[in-house]
This record gives sequence, C-alpha cells and structure tokens, in this order.
Amino acid sequence: MSSAPVPATALDLDAVRADFPILGEHVNGQRLVYLDSGATSQKPQAVIDAEVAFLTRANSAVHRGAHTLAAEATELFEDARTTVAGFVGAPPEQLVWTSGATAGLNLAAYAIGNASVGRGAPESARFALRPGDEIVVTEIEHHANLIPWQELATRTGAVLRHIPVHDDGTLDLDAAAGIIGERTRVVAFTHVSNVLGIVNPVTELVALAQSVGAVTVLDACQSAPHLPLDLPALGVDLAVFSGHKMLGPYGVGGLYGRADVLEALPPFLTGGSMITTVTLDEAEYLPPPQRFEAGTQPVSQAIALAAAVRYLDRLGMPAVHAHEKALEARMGEGLRALPGIRLLGDAPDAERVGLWAFDVDGVHAHDVGQFLDARGVAVRVGHHCAQPLHRRFGLTATVRASTSVYNTADDVDVFLDALSGVRSFFG
Ligand code: PLP
Repeated sequence: MSSAPVPATALDLDAVRADFPILGEHVNGQRLVYLDSGATSQKPQAVIDAEVAFLTRANSAVHRGAHTLAAEATELFEDARTTVAGFVGAPPEQLVWTSGATAGLNLAAYAIGNASVGRGAPESARFALRPGDEIVVTEIEHHANLIPWQELATRTGAVLRHIPVHDDGTLDLDAAAGIIGERTRVVAFTHVSNVLGIVNPVTELVALAQSVGAVTVLDACQSAPHLPLDLPALGVDLAVFSGHKMLGPYGVGGLYGRADVLEALPPFLTGGSMITTVTLDEAEYLPPPQRFEAGTQPVSQAIALAAAVRYLDRLGMPAVHAHEKALEARMGEGLRALPGIRLLGDAPDAERVGLWAFDVDGVHAHDVGQFLDARGVAVRVGHHCAQPLHRRFGLTATVRASTSVYNTADDVDVFLDALSGVRSFFG
C-alpha cells in the first residue's frame, strides 16, 4: 500500500530475522507478519539455545548444593543477574528476580503496605501508609499497575488518586502537579502505555513525587525492549520489566530498586532462600535482593533472559530504538491515510515506541483481528488489560499493532494493505 521508500536502518535486518526461527513460519498459508510484540516478543535462537544449554549441561539448584554442578549453576545465575541489571544501568544487588512484571508490581505494593507492620526491615515512616494517605496512579495504567494499588488502598485506608490523560494521549502534567501533594506516599506510573505507545515524562513525574517525599514505581514493560534504559538515571525508586516482552522467556522479570529503598522494604513472599537463621518462632532475613526471592528461583529463565539482553546489546539499543521509530512513523502515516481509522494517542511530536492502537469505524476489533489473521498478520485485539483507559476514550476494545526489532517496513506495508480492505469486507 505505501509506496514510500524503505528507510535505511543501522540493523542488518536479514541477519536479525534469520535469528528468529518462528519468523519462517506460515500462518493460514501466508508469511507470518508478527505485530503483537507488545503482548509477547518472539525469541532469537540464542535465547532458546541458552535455556536448552543450561537444562542439558548445567541444571542444578542454585545457592544450595555443595557439588560442582550447583556451583556452576549458581555462577551462571548470578552472572545473569549482573548482565540483566547492567542492561537497565544497575548493579546486580539492585535487581530482584520475579516471575514477571505483574509479580514485581504486587511485590512492590505489598512490601510498601507492609513496611510499617512487617518484620525484617527497619520501620520507615516514608513507607507507612495511614488512612487518608494517597497513592497516585495514572488513568492509562495496565491493570497490573492499577489493581495492586487498589488492593493496597483498601487494606490501609489510603486514597487512590488518578492523573488524567489528555485527548491526545499525553498525561496531564498540570493536573499531576495538583494531585501529587502533602498526603502522597506513592506515585506509580508506566514509562510507555501498552495502548498509547507514548513515552511518558518520567523526569517531571519523579520530580513532583520527590518534592513531597513519595516513593516512585515505574512500569518499564513497554520501554525496556525498545529504548536505551538507565533506571538509576531516571531517579525512580522501584521499576519492573518483563522478560517475555524483551526477547526473553516466560516466567521471569525484574524488579529494580534503589539500594536504600530495597533495604527499607520487608519481603513479600517468605520461606526458603531468603533467610539467614530460622527458629521455630522467628526468622532473620537476607539483605536484598535475596530477601525478595523466596523459594526456588527462575534459574533457566534468568539465564535465557541474560542471553536476550546480550542479543539486544549487540544490536545496540539506540539502533533498535531508531529502527522501531522508523516503523512506527511509517505505520502511523499509513493508518492516518486510511478512512475510518481512529488512532489512540496520536499526539503530535510525542516520543513513541512502535505501537499503535486504533478503532475501525463500524467493524468490531475482534473481526478486524480475524480478518488480518487470515492474511498472516498477527495483531492484538481487546482492551489490552487497560479497561479504564479504553473507557476514557469511549471504547471497549481496540486493535493494536506493535513492533519489535525483527519487523520490517514490508511487514508494516502488508499490515496496512490488509487493513485497507477491512471496512469494505464487513461493510
Ligand atoms: N505492564 C504493562 C505496561 C504491560 O504491557 C504488561 C503486559 O502486558 C504488564 C505490565 C504485565 O507483564 P507480565 O506479563 O510480565 O506480568
């Protein structure tokens, strides 16, 4: 459909695509055009190999056994922590392994809520939530960064407040300045919305939160795979990301924390692997990050996630970002040119990742998804775990096309071509 020239990219896309075996698959007789990386990314062979290699040659329980294999597994596991922490600009002791971003956000909310009553951490007035204190989130959050805070508010009597979003998908910073105040204890927000694709003003929100001594929690799920990320430089107290969205396996994610913040928080889960001494009546806990890693760790997954971020680092995150920006621009331009398409978050000049959600006039999102699937194009349809945001825009469901490093301008054009036929087909 688009006749624009294919933009130059610093990436060798043929080589990149050859690294992802699934991209050779056909769906409904068509070449697979995978535009659902916002839900989960595909995995390069290096990641698949890393997990298989660990399971076939080094599998063993970490931090426990006295035998050679256990020592090797422990070394690989802790090396993976150093690699993945380094990818987000942090030292290894500031990275807690979780099973994913949802687990990290629940950990954060529970630990913050338990700080004034839990054992194992110094009581900290900064974290104590009392009735009438305020937790601030935004109107655009994924349910994973909303419901844990709703629960925390219910448990503590704190009040949940919301920073609104403008019609163009940008956050209302003037309103934020009025909402974040004396009673605010926590400000939790997403770096990039999984529906709007816009990079939010982290520095401004962190400054507002810091001015009142509130803890900041960043959901970096949709930024970590697409942008160079330096969490300490962003100044956030806690941040989460998700392995399966950044070329890694399922079942692993990261919770980054500032050293003093992790130190001051009590654990979420308790049990093995997070203690020093246990009696029948009480237990002493290890320092972070182990304090937050009760039970058996996601060992093979962490090692494979390290392979994923090494892969991204080899390509270079600035090059990955530039490539996806070019795809995003091409897709945005093509979508704007199609009649009957309403884009969400089409703010002029906004910094974006390669993700567009949209409504097709007169055609249900699920029908659009099936129509595209029949042509080999995989997109996500529904509310994308962001019902309040959809309600804000008067919708219940949208279609979402999202890119990763392996997508090409041709993928975008195949998608746009297919989409151009959807309204006449259903009309
Ligand atoms: N936050 C955002 C913005 C997401 O897009 C997602 C996944 O869809 C999550 C949180 C949940 O991540 P996980 O699957 O790692 O629990």
